[in-house]
Amino acid sequence: MARVTSSIAWQDVETVLVDMDGTLLDLAFDNYFWRRLVPADFARLHDMSIEDAERDLAARYERLQGRLEWYCIDYWSRELRIDIRMLKWQHRHLIQYLPRAPEFLASVRARGKRLLLVTNAHRGALELKVAQTGLDRHVDGMVSSHDLDAPKESAEFWPLLQRRETFDPARTILIEDSLPVLSCARTYGLGGTIAVRRPDSQQPARVVQEFPAVDGVGELV
Ligand SMILES: [Mg+2]
Repeated sequence: MARVTSSIAWQDVETVLVDMDGTLLDLAFDNYFWRRLVPADFARLHDMSIEDAERDLAARYERLQGRLEWYCIDYWSRELRIDIRMLKWQHRHLIQYLPRAPEFLASVRARGKRLLLVTNAHRGALELKVAQTGLDRHVDGMVSSHDLDAPKESAEFWPLLQRRETFDPARTILIEDSLPVLSCARTYGLGGTIAVRRPDSQQPARVVQEFPAVDGVGELV
């Protein structure tokens, strides 16, 4: 598989957009949270088996994939009648950086590039992750797609982001684990789109063919 490092021509890059969950932070937390903790609570609440709860929730998740509600803590708290915010805070000690992610962030800034965190995470989830990791200290700015009222995997998102943050798309790269988001960014005309093959440290790396890819951002240091 082609290595990506040689394809980043740093001299042509002004702005680096970087995703949070699955790119900087280990998606193992989110997967454990939504696939284990929430079903366990839901089963208790509705007096059903864990298996039934998992099936019920999987169907609900499926319906909303790629929509802003999918990322909205308030939506899920209402829909499931579970205090999602509190449940997340109770398990915040499980939130971890992916290997060498802080080193990667430091290296981008050492190159003098503008570094923006761009996430679909709800402001509440973002706050929690920032409180737990100190991520905000390593970037020049943070944007939640909820502020722009469009998810990153929608065509509307990119011009809205560009208007708000003023960057030259051709001199901007995105590093991200979601392939639909990378597709949208490429269509919009970003100068580079790099995929992360291994967003969850507990899972094997995925095969990615549509984009230059790295197992993790540590490879880009
Ligand atoms: Mg992600």
